[in-house]
Amino acid sequence: MIVTHINPDGDAIGSAMGVYHFLKGLGTKPEVIIPNDMPGFLKWLPESSAIKVFSRNKKKATRIIKDAGTVLFLDFNSLDRTGEMKESLLSTSAFRMLIDHHPGPEVPAEYVLSDINVSSTAELVFRFIEWLGKVDLVTPVVAECLYTGIMTDTGCFSYNSSKPGTYKVLSKLLEKGIDKDKVYDKVYDNFSENRMRLLGYCLDKKMVVMPGYKTAYISLTKKEKEKYGFAIGDSEGFVNYPLSIKGIEFAVFFMENDKNVKLSFRSKGNFNVNEFSRKHFGGGGHYNASGGESGLSMDETISKFCGLLPRYFQND
Ligand code: 5GP
Ligand code: MN
Repeated sequence: MIVTHINPDGDAIGSAMGVYHFLKGLGTKPEVIIPNDMPGFLKWLPESSAIKVFSRNKKKATRIIKDAGTVLFLDFNSLDRTGEMKESLLSTSAFRMLIDHHPGPEVPAEYVLSDINVSSTAELVFRFIEWLGKVDLVTPVVAECLYTGIMTDTGCFSYNSSKPGTYKVLSKLLEKGIDKDKVYDKVYDNFSENRMRLLGYCLDKKMVVMPGYKTAYISLTKKEKEKYGFAIGDSEGFVNYPLSIKGIEFAVFFMENDKNVKLSFRSKGNFNVNEFSRKHFGGGGHYNASGGESGLSMDETISKFCGLLPRYFQND
């Protein structure tokens, strides 16, 4: 059984489906379970409809977890990242494995492959398959899934992608005969009209720029989401846009959900947003990309956030 984190992204789903197809090639019967639904722009991945969503059918998913002989955790460093699945995962008697690239792994597992120096979990999965001596079982479909993970976790090779090793893996994936332009098109040219208009609205009306603090943020309320027929995944990538403004080094996206306000942080250079998120918003992630949450209202969350800025940036 393969498990990824809540609000799964391209690396989580790409890695999971890559391993899924690889294991099927080995003659086993893998199951992929994700805590909540995945964004539409990943649903083209072959057989992604076989993925079980825990929040949709807890009974069935819990039974699969119970019956699993081996559980593979992918792309997260703490079971807290599996939301409501955490409890059943804690009580499993299966052999547990972790493959991940987040700092400070604390997932209970018999086998841990964790490296913060790789671009993505998908890259690490490929390296793992290489160590197994099973690259011949990397079919074009496996390669396509892993390529999707690397491409999305590096923002199309714009960050987390300075190491030559990443390109060696990419080169081997391309040798398997994947169509990289098709993957790009499926992921990035696959948005709904609503999503594009929502992005326009966010940039025009909802982006607040504070040049003195080298910071800019975008906030989105439940009401605004409803107005634009918001679907899961529609705000993917919004947090990156403010970083394109000259002089901005810290970007934040606030999104109101039913139970909380979800925060996404991105930075350029030497501002550690993993630490910032852990310290102030109960979250974590990577040095330049992290997330957290807040139980306060949107306005209170933004006030809290703005109140923190003078501690980190000189207003000049
Ligand atoms: P995103 O902003 O795209 O949701 O997440 C960016 C990074 O932060 C990802 O590596 C993700 O795993 C991590 N992350 C996002 N939300 C949370 C959270 O609530 N807790 C923790 N620990 N990490 C998070
Ligand atoms: Mn990742």
